[in-house]
Amino acid sequence: MNLKAFTNANVIDVLQAKIEQDVTILVENGKISAMGARLPLPKAAEVFNLQHAYVCPGLFNVHVHCTKTGAGDQSLEQFSEAQRTILAINNLETYIRDGVTFIRDVGCQGMLAFDLRDAVRDGSIRVAPDMLVCGRGITMTGGSSYMSAIEADGVDECRKAARQMLKAGADWIKLFATGGVCTPNGIPGAVQLDVEEMAVVVREAHKVGVKVCVHAENPQGICNSLRAGVDCIEHGDGIDDETLELFKQTGAWFVPTLASAFDIVSGAGKGVPEEFVQKALELAEASIGNFRKAFDAGVPCACGTDCGTPFCFHTSSSKEPVIMVERCGLTPFEALRAATFDSARLLGVDQELGSIELGKKAHFAVYKNNPIEDIRHLLQCDMAIKNGEILWKR
Ligand SMILES: [Zn+2]
Repeated sequence: MNLKAFTNANVIDVLQAKIEQDVTILVENGKISAMGARLPLPKAAEVFNLQHAYVCPGLFNVHVHCTKTGAGDQSLEQFSEAQRTILAINNLETYIRDGVTFIRDVGCQGMLAFDLRDAVRDGSIRVAPDMLVCGRGITMTGGSSYMSAIEADGVDECRKAARQMLKAGADWIKLFATGGVCTPNGIPGAVQLDVEEMAVVVREAHKVGVKVCVHAENPQGICNSLRAGVDCIEHGDGIDDETLELFKQTGAWFVPTLASAFDIVSGAGKGVPEEFVQKALELAEASIGNFRKAFDAGVPCACGTDCGTPFCFHTSSSKEPVIMVERCGLTPFEALRAATFDSARLLGVDQELGSIELGKKAHFAVYKNNPIEDIRHLLQCDMAIKNGEILWKR
């Protein structure tokens, strides 16, 4: 039996919105077996004194592209498969240093994400967050991300593409309902896959309990996706009364990816194609009010940043809750809950992750300074723990 005791922890309870002080957390074989103040220390326990640091559930980033670089102009990059693999493994380590212990990859180059996920799961890649993956997205011919996604037109091809990804082991399926910022000549306001094309994919995925997420950057695209029965809208620009009503009727989730538009804009003049900067500029400020509207209406929201896109580096995860507080007016507890427990709910892993509770896996992000006092303290993680093992320490 492997028994560890983390002492003198200030535990951030994202469910009750409070901090428990001077807590000892016992971790037995990677799971929390006891916790409380003045807990007697078992002799067999290996003791780690956290010295009154703040212990948050490990962060989630539910919208990443771990095989991409975040470089300004990625069309200039030519990687061999081995180089791409090395890059992705390094990116995974970067998430850990940001306190992120769980990611969902929503579109990668080739089939690499499946092997990465499996290698993390069996422990052959150790310093990495747990992962769920989509594999390649499904887009129309010439549609968003056609450079890496499967191009499929009509109901039959969409069904085939969905079955191919399910066969490969996709945990989620990713679709594209509209144009996008980072596809050359893509128009975020233009509708792409039709309702019937998306509906057949949803049907195939749901047959085997797999959920579907959709890139949608205008109201019509969101409506089409929700009518097709998808489970989660990504980006979701232009949410209006009609889309809100559909969100409520379907119970679909929303991942606003607030950080990426600002990151793309920050790359102006530094290698990000001017076309991408202009499109991101139009969406960035509007995305703030857009998210606030959905959040206030009770749409369930999770945290994802779209890292891997231009200037949205793999260190960006903790920026999302910071933007939710500083620009959207959420409380630090609300933003942290979105980045932990609510994201775990979206991914269906909230029984074992997302909060610090008895029986759950010991995935923690540890901060010297209190992120509830100042959410910016999230930007400097001091220690990351997964399954009770310290994977990284500043
Ligand atoms: Zn994306």
